[in-house]
Amino acid sequence: MNETSLKKVLSKLKLGSLRYFDSIGSTNDEALAWAATEGGAADLSLVVADEQTQGRGRLNRKWFTPKGSALAFSLILRSSETLRPNLSRTVGLAALSVAESCSKNGLTPSIKWPNDILLNGKKVAGILVETVWSGDELDLLVIGVGINVLKSSVPPADLLQFPATSLEDELGTPPNREEVLSSILEALIHWRARMGTDEFIKAWENQLAFRGQQVQTFAGTDVPVVGELLGLEPDGSLRLLDKHRKSIVVRFGDVSLRPDA
Ligand code: ADP
Repeated sequence: MNETSLKKVLSKLKLGSLRYFDSIGSTNDEALAWAATEGGAADLSLVVADEQTQGRGRLNRKWFTPKGSALAFSLILRSSETLRPNLSRTVGLAALSVAESCSKNGLTPSIKWPNDILLNGKKVAGILVETVWSGDELDLLVIGVGINVLKSSVPPADLLQFPATSLEDELGTPPNREEVLSSILEALIHWRARMGTDEFIKAWENQLAFRGQQVQTFAGTDVPVVGELLGLEPDGSLRLLDKHRKSIVVRFGDVSLRPDA
């Protein structure tokens, strides 16, 4: 992967500018710094790196992006009439786009709410959305995506709390990283224009992992919220049904299957 090959593959999409790095700390940090400069970065500007040395997940967790095998990119979305009222759907926009690109390759993805993409119950991609505000007005947001493309991008199991896989492991052949990136961005541009629709929530909900199963969600405390995973609220929160058949809404947290269910 290099800047020329990327530009060629991405030329059919209406993107902003591109910054490519052989190695970088974090593509999200670069995108946030770029967007903050005089003149900033246009809507749909993209940072891509072959390697991240300080890749970030949520809550200061680390995201591994070894050289030559993974895809790490951050996309800058400027605030707009469509985005502002649908801000809470942004993680879904990214997750749905990654999932659709996997489906196009013949795979069967699922979204482990809110921000992970699974193949065969193992994590293949993670998403980190960060927002920038001017006072209480949204200025822009950055969608960071890390995907394990080739087998060698999968971190050693002892570094992970959750099993991981790669597109190559699941497909049996090595996909082209630029093509994967292009198909995710194409899906994202498609769905961004439809973020406010019911069709968007339905498409996102249809890809959710563990639907109809007993799950536990942890959000900052040791006490999980447990229940059957029903689906999504219009704002992208998770809807569970507890053992008293009462509906519970979970806005933030980590969801996993209940081991004893
Ligand atoms: P979570 O999966 O808990 O929501 P994040 O999406 O923020 O957390 O991702 C960070 C976590 O993902 C790390 O704590 C690590 O366990 C795991 N991880 C880091 N890099 C990779 C990778 N390349 N593939 C799969 N899992 C990873």
